[in-house]
Amino acid sequence: MSCIFCKIIAGEIPSKTIHENEDFLAFHDINPQAPVHALVIPKAHVVDFREMSGEMMAKMTPFIQETAKKLGIYEEGFRIVNNIGTNGGQEVFHIHFHLIGGAKLKWGNFL
Ligand code: 5GP
Ligand code: ZN
Repeated sequence: MSCIFCKIIAGEIPSKTIHENEDFLAFHDINPQAPVHALVIPKAHVVDFREMSGEMMAKMTPFIQETAKKLGIYEEGFRIVNNIGTNGGQEVFHIHFHLIGGAKLKWGNFL
């Protein structure tokens, strides 16, 4: 039984693709928290940051930068969020980096 993001990668659940290559997929979050809210995921099923290899993170860096450019949020700035495990508030257990922008973001309100 594959996870919800593996199903999105497989095309079994529809999503709005922004950018894709052999290793990664960027798509729009279904419940955006800002004018721009995308998710970047590896196509390999990695549960969370604690399982993420340095090699994969290194490959992901330019992919995230390219995604931000495609979204038109690169120049004005944006935020990358990665929730890890229970205390981090992770709900989908396939690692994903939120790219949030399109407005001046506030900081705080974690509790
Ligand atoms: P987490 O809380 O795990 O960091 O974030 C999970 C994110 O996945 C949430 O922002 C949620 O809106 C998004 N999400 C959950 N299910 C789907 C889906 O089926 N499609 C898309 N595009 N986003 C989803
Ligand atoms: Zn998965």
